[in-house]
Order: sequence, then structure tokens, then C-alpha cells
Amino acid sequence: MWLPFFSSWISVGVYVLFLFLVSSTLYNFFCAMFIGPGYVPHGWQPENVSDCRYLQYCTLCNGYKSPRAHHCRKCKRCVMKMDHHCPWINNCCGHHNHAKFTLFLISAVCGCILSSVLLFIGLYRAFRINWYFLYGDHQYIVYLTVYQLAFTVFSFGLALGVVLAVGGLFYVQMKQIIRNETSIENWIVIKAVSRPRTDDDVFIYPYNLGWWKNIKQVFWEPQGNGLTDWPVVQGCHPYTLTIEQIIQKEDKKARKKQYTIVQSYNGSWFPISKGFRTCLSPPCSDEYRIPLTVGDKVYVTRWRKRWLYGEKCSTNEAEDCDSKGWFPRCCAVEFTTTDGEVTKVSKKLS
Ligand SMILES: [Zn+2]
Ligand SMILES: [Zn+2]
Repeated sequence: MWLPFFSSWISVGVYVLFLFLVSSTLYNFFCAMFIGPGYVPHGWQPENVSDCRYLQYCTLCNGYKSPRAHHCRKCKRCVMKMDHHCPWINNCCGHHNHAKFTLFLISAVCGCILSSVLLFIGLYRAFRINWYFLYGDHQYIVYLTVYQLAFTVFSFGLALGVVLAVGGLFYVQMKQIIRNETSIENWIVIKAVSRPRTDDDVFIYPYNLGWWKNIKQVFWEPQGNGLTDWPVVQGCHPYTLTIEQIIQKEDKKARKKQYTIVQSYNGSWFPISKGFRTCLSPPCSDEYRIPLTVGDKVYVTRWRKRWLYGEKCSTNEAEDCDSKGWFPRCCAVEFTTTDGEVTKVSKKLS
């Protein structure tokens, strides 16, 4: 109403820009969804077999995890340069679709900024209709019916919500692209830096080639096969990060504690039967919740006040774990192993 299509060149420009941003959002969204991140082939191992010692083995894909790859439980595959599993594209964001995913975010944010401005000015003119009627340009009076007003306010709210939420995600993505880190690698680096080490053993993140090269690697020159040919900074081993991951995993194994389940749990996200406090303080994560039955053994690796994270084991063997996830702390009691014997050391936690 206040900016009709043919009123000026500016309005034509605004319409063209808006259509471009909508098309770009949809195009990049569907590309990110259908191109997918790229998967590590089943049963994969590096060309040089002796390099296998630097890599973790994925028992679910029956192959080695290439550098930067991680197993996604939702995709049920090892994903190349996995960033995260995105429920909006129902796929992982990884090596092949990282650029498309980021372009989708920025297109959506810019489109919604433009919408917010157009809608806000429309609303402002509608509320000040009398002023515009008396002193303004009579050609472009904005008059909204109750339904039009409701839809305009609703659309303005949605557009603003996207700007804030998706804009935040875009900011985080760009920060990581500039450092050539994925969200998962960011965690590994934080743990690597805080891990106790000797003076001459300094951790250097191997993929940070400088901000411009890092951006180019994602948007213009996606690297080779996405498996082993990642360029690394001088002085780093091609497997620096995977070696660090193996050490961190060993550390985690050394820290884990065995618990036995004394109350069954159905895997619910809000288990009201386990008490209000447990129900109201769930872990802020979309990681799995594991259903458990009385007598199950769980190796716990993370502790919260009312929740524990661990691996459920089908036998007494620590390696034979079949599922990982969170469960309410009140369902378990802790054990320690002394000379091969399992001794109960703590009373039931409440
Ligand atoms: Zn896998
Ligand atoms: Zn996934």
C-alpha cells in the first residue's frame, strides 16, 4: 500500500531484491537438504593402512572415521566434516552442503530484515493514518482491516523472530567458518586446550589456514574428497586432530564410572514419575535419552545434579556398549570395581 510496485525505481528494486532473497533462501534450503553432507563409505580405511592407528573405528559403519568425520545417529552414517544434524533440513550439515546451508541462513536473515522494515513502516503508517491523511501523500495511505492488521503484526513478529534466531545461528556458523572449525571440532579444541599436558606438547589446531583461506575452502574451493586430503598448517601432522580425539576418548574412559539401574526408565524427556525437579531440569541437549530396566549396567561419563549421561552395556565388558544417552540420576546407584569384584559404594541417590 505504501510502496506499490511501479511507484518508483526504488520500489521496483525492493521487490526484485525481496524476490531474489526468497528464491535464494528456497534454493539453498533445498540444495542443503538434497545434496546432503557426504558420507564416509561403508568399511572405509585410509590408503596407507598404517594410518589406521591414528583413526577411530566406527562399529556401526564397520569402517574407520576419516579425519573431521563423525557418526550421526539420526543419519545412521559417518558424516564427512560433520557440523551438526539440522532438523530443519532433516539432514546433517557437513562437507558438501556447508556452503549451501550458510547461504540459506544469510538469505533467510536478509529477507526477513527487509520484510520487518517494510511491515514496520506499513504498521506505523496504518496507526498514524490521520496524520498521513492530513499532511502526507494521499496516494499511499495505509488502511488495514482487523484481519489485515492481525496478519501484519503476526508476520512482523515471525520475521523479527527469524532475524534474531537464524541470525544468531548464522553468526556462530561464520565465526566457526573463519576459524575452519565445525561445532564438534570447537568442543574438541576446548577440551584439547584445557587438557593437562607437558611444556613441549602444545596443541595447534591443524585446519586453521587463515581467515580468507578458510572462507574460500567452504564457499569457493571445497576440498577434494572430504576424507583425508584436508590441508593442515605447517608443523602439524595430517592426523593431529584425530590423535587428540583418541587421547580424549582414553581420558574419558579412565574417568567413567559404572552404575547399576535400580529403577526402570522409559526414555521419556520429561519423566514426571521421577519427580518434579528431575522433570523440570532436563539436560539442555537433543542427545538421546536411554530407556533402562532394573539391573542394567551403565558406564557414566557425564554428571548433572539430576541426570547422568552414559553408555548402556549389554554385558559386563566395557567395550560392548550398545546405546548412549541421558537418564535420571535417581534411577541409578554407583559401583566401583576392586580386584575384579563389584562393590556397592554409594547408597541410592535421590
Ligand atoms: Zn559411523
Ligand atoms: Zn545427521
